[in-house]
Amino acid sequence: MIYLDNNATTAIDPQVAEVIAAEFQRGPANPSSQHAIGRSSSDRLDDAILRIGACLGSDLSLPGGARLITTSGGTESNNLALAGLATPDSPLIVSSIEHASVIAFAEQAKKSGRQVHVLPVTPNGVVRIDALQQTLATLDADQAVVSVMSANNETGVVQPIAEVAEVCRQAGALLHVDATQSIGKLPATVNEIPAAAITVTPHKFHGPAGVGALWIDAGIKLRPLLFGGEQQLVTRPGTEPVALILGMAKALEIAVEKQSAVCQQMVSRRDQFEATLRRECAGLLIHGENEKRLPGTSCVSFAGTDRQSMLMALDFAGVACSSGSACSSGSSPPSHVLLAMGCPDWAVESAIRFSLCRFSTDEEIADAADRICRVYNRLRS
Ligand code: PLP
Repeated sequence: MIYLDNNATTAIDPQVAEVIAAEFQRGPANPSSQHAIGRSSSDRLDDAILRIGACLGSDLSLPGGARLITTSGGTESNNLALAGLATPDSPLIVSSIEHASVIAFAEQAKKSGRQVHVLPVTPNGVVRIDALQQTLATLDADQAVVSVMSANNETGVVQPIAEVAEVCRQAGALLHVDATQSIGKLPATVNEIPAAAITVTPHKFHGPAGVGALWIDAGIKLRPLLFGGEQQLVTRPGTEPVALILGMAKALEIAVEKQSAVCQQMVSRRDQFEATLRRECAGLLIHGENEKRLPGTSCVSFAGTDRQSMLMALDFAGVACSSGSACSSGSSPPSHVLLAMGCPDWAVESAIRFSLCRFSTDEEIADAADRICRVYNRLRS
């Protein structure tokens, strides 16, 4: 099986698995316990948090400075940001191509009476800055919360975060960036992502699932989503999963160290992959092809097929890929991202996402491209 579904989740890096296993084998670890064993785990936790901050270019040791809230993953970090920034009544502005954990939160907030605005995107899948400006200009004095992802999980299209951040700054709005897909593939320090809050999701960069983080800038208040103990200064109560957080730190360090080399390799493999598909298959549409994209993401519509048949046939041929977001796999509804881009029906119906990782090899990508072409040409005929 050739695994081309890395935007859904990645294989854990063996070095990360070692760190996690060693921590689990060490024994019990509750950083809130007052005895020596608890204090020692608290030290390891603090160290991991500081290292995560260093990878993001943020010194988390400064009193009153930026902080990192650990969570159960990208979904919780996104929910926490949208619920906890500004006030419960603040207008909420999200783009139409956000992950379900943002879109569904916004829909729920709207039902509860919160003012919600959804930003359109261009036909290439880029958030429209003019629409953000116009929306912010129409709002009343309340501080708005804006959520725009750094790169889209389905098309890989990179979003103009610096421009979004500047528009937000001028309007006094708080920006949350879901950086789930770009970390490890593109530079992702707080300089590159000048936001009030940033979502980090390690299972997308060869770290563990079930853990994540929300980075919060200095001076930004965040109200809790969960209630319980005193952990993380009450902002996110619950015993911290020390082993997973240590794994997140290790995965991030490796991802940041390798990012530039990995980016180059992935771009060349993805380009090679797309060139083969173009050469061997008629009637393809590669979404966001002319925009800046994540290095290893290729979202392709195959004219004359439907995504479910393609997925099943590819699975049978030994290529693991997906139609849109993994959160909807199993049911495979049409992609809200491609719909927001105004793609024609045939393209929405036949879109498949292939996503590479740093462990993908030239041989397997070439092999996968051949298998995909064979499957498509057979299905079409
Ligand atoms: N944000 C984006 C852009 C994603 O792609 C995903 C997962 O696919 C998430 C958030 C949610 O992450 P998790 O599944 O860890 O909750």
